[in-house]
Amino acid sequence: MKCRLCDSIAVISLPRHNSAFCRNHFVEFFQKQVKRAIKSYRMLNKTDRILVCVSGGKDSLTLWHILNEFGYNTTGLYINLGIGEYSEKSLEKAEAFAKRLNKELIVVDFAEEYTDIKALARFADRTDCSTCGVVKRYFFNRVAIEKGFDAVATGHNLDDEAARLLGNILRWQVDLVQKQSPVLDNEEGLKKKVKPLFRLTEQEIATYAFLNRIDYLREECPMSKGTTSLVYKEALNRIELESPGTKHFFYFQFLERKKDVFKHLKEDKKGVLSFCERCGTPCSGEYCAFCRLTDYLSKSAQTPCEHA
Ligand code: AMP
Ligand code: ZN
Ligand code: ZN
Repeated sequence: MKCRLCDSIAVISLPRHNSAFCRNHFVEFFQKQVKRAIKSYRMLNKTDRILVCVSGGKDSLTLWHILNEFGYNTTGLYINLGIGEYSEKSLEKAEAFAKRLNKELIVVDFAEEYTDIKALARFADRTDCSTCGVVKRYFFNRVAIEKGFDAVATGHNLDDEAARLLGNILRWQVDLVQKQSPVLDNEEGLKKKVKPLFRLTEQEIATYAFLNRIDYLREECPMSKGTTSLVYKEALNRIELESPGTKHFFYFQFLERKKDVFKHLKEDKKGVLSFCERCGTPCSGEYCAFCRLTDYLSKSAQTPCEHA
């Protein structure tokens, strides 16, 4: 297979773009997609201080790599969620990569300060993944605000965003569909959040990571096994095999038509009426989701042990 743009051997075929690229043209394509994402959604400025949330996986390390190549001012953030060996290996990858880039990595040890995610999910009677999501979002925002960053960047890719859209539509969660976007602007108490890799698939990111010798953790999070988001990803990949380009069309047409489709609906602001009495995060009740979650820990500590 030859590159569509030159005579060299292609390293990747991209059926959704009806293309195949050699190493150099693929990297050029990849960079163009990230630049286009950043420009079209006014995600970042060259003077911004950017907090890059890194899990040690391919998406977030690739994001850190490319933002660094583009000359952005970046600092990494890793949150230890206490998922056994998986978390230890993730931190090692994030630390080694920070060293390679010669950049600072901020580490928040949630597990040490509170408890591990599995225990917290059990106390709160929630799923592991939704508990993990609340904790991560809370610290992304809190660290960015406390340390004066201008934006929070995550490694969410096209597969993540398309699967999330599918999940929201399957449950007709119109408010969530309406809010889904590659960028969430600054609001009082909430720092701007951006997803510069949203135009790229997992396969494309893995190829970029390989070509740039990015040493990432290949293992998937053990808590994500059997989750609905993985089922939606698999379903979309199955459809993509039969009909290349569908995943791209599904998500990009949503972004294009969103404004028109929702123009009669007012932006749903009723979810944010107040600020958490403990930490100041915008929320709909007295306390934010994070403070409500961690409250279960103090309650459980007060409950006398049944077997005592
Ligand atoms: P996930 O929610 O695991 O699909 O991850 C989505 C994005 O969140 C990743 O691409 C990272 O940017 C970020 N992220 C996930 N886990 C962590 C973590 N433990 N510490 C910092 N950032 C993370
Ligand atoms: Zn080429
Ligand atoms: Zn709070």
